[in-house]
Amino acid sequence: MIVIENVTVATVDANDTVHTDGHVVVGDDGRIAAVGPGKTEMSGKRVDGKGHLVTPGLVNSHHHLYQWATRGLALDETLFGWLTTLYPIWGRLDADVTGAAAAAGLGWLALSGCTTSMDHHYVFPRDGGDVLEAEIEAARRIGLRFHPTRGSMDLSRKDGGLPPDHVVEETDEALAATEAAIDRWHDPSPGSMLRIAVAPCSPFSVTTRLMEEAAVLARRKGVRLHTHLAETDDEEQFCLERFGCTPVEYADRVGWLGEDVWLAHGVHFSDKEIARLGATRTGVAHCPSSNARLGAGMARVRELVDAGVPVGLGVDGAASQEVSQISAELRQALYTARLRGGPTAMTALEALRLGTMGGARCLGREDDIGSLEVGKLADLVMWRLDGLGHDGVDDKVAALVFGPTAPVELALVGGDPVVERGELVNADEETLAREARRVHRKLMV
Ligand code: ZN
Repeated sequence: MIVIENVTVATVDANDTVHTDGHVVVGDDGRIAAVGPGKTEMSGKRVDGKGHLVTPGLVNSHHHLYQWATRGLALDETLFGWLTTLYPIWGRLDADVTGAAAAAGLGWLALSGCTTSMDHHYVFPRDGGDVLEAEIEAARRIGLRFHPTRGSMDLSRKDGGLPPDHVVEETDEALAATEAAIDRWHDPSPGSMLRIAVAPCSPFSVTTRLMEEAAVLARRKGVRLHTHLAETDDEEQFCLERFGCTPVEYADRVGWLGEDVWLAHGVHFSDKEIARLGATRTGVAHCPSSNARLGAGMARVRELVDAGVPVGLGVDGAASQEVSQISAELRQALYTARLRGGPTAMTALEALRLGTMGGARCLGREDDIGSLEVGKLADLVMWRLDGLGHDGVDDKVAALVFGPTAPVELALVGGDPVVERGELVNADEETLAREARRVHRKLMV
């Protein structure tokens, strides 16, 4: 048992309960045994949390880990320009590059308070080895709960899509590999450390047949569906020209709205589309830093949340926003909402909810993670807020969200430490950086 006390606890329960002087007890089964105000009589290894804030571990609901190997490129491009610059480089990906990039990306996420991450991997070069296995091994190495998706692209330039011919797969080949990945890796059990979802990449890189059959496959297997949608004006123009409808109308047409679906970005939605997403409980992974970096626009998060849409936060790939810290997305989400809707458009607690419970709902894990409640998994973060950057901000949730990126004193995944005193427990940061540098050089030949 671990007893954290003398600490502020933001539970993110249904009432957004915050205990300014409270405790959290982690049981030996890796679940939360107690949480509440004041002290507890329960025994265990005692941790003094004075000057700290405990929150649920942050959930990253959209990412492309392999992109850690291609950061800092195409710095002044729109999405389509950025993609067409990077596709040829990504065509050289292999398991070695993906594994090292994923370990770096996941290590960096853990250091920013992430305890569960998804990954959207959609580039599978023919002679690249088993890239999905490589990133799953990386997640095991770092110790994070992991929801990788088996992505895919089958619409290349010769058929009117955006990617070059050599980075896409055949439709049936992609579907078969996706089913094989689910059979091999997906663990549906409560407390699972590894779940797979099905994730064709985007309307401009995937055929209608692959979208439709991927949805049928996912539902037959009982796994979730993920894709990019409504990220930029370019994409909307592509859909209007090719399909005669908007991206959301297209998703609806191909069976891609529902509570088992979450969509990355969702920047360009009409009022009617937001209502439709809310009615179908389709989730959205909001990626405000990536949207800013690519100049894609500002998602209508206030309206999405008010319509009942589950909204999580995502850092998105490290090539489209080099910060890649999930804790920084709390502030960026709050700023983005306020740039659109003024200072009352989002509170610090609402931003924290997006980064925890919102992400858990996107991943279908709200029964297990996303809030600190008895019986839930002990995925939690203790943030150090008594240093120069935060001390003096009395509201500790405000200090975390409005303040600079906070150091992680302790991060637990299922009760197991993955970060202690700002350092990774299971890996060495310098080694991760060295490996990441090596594979970056390998790609940039
Ligand atoms: Zn993305």
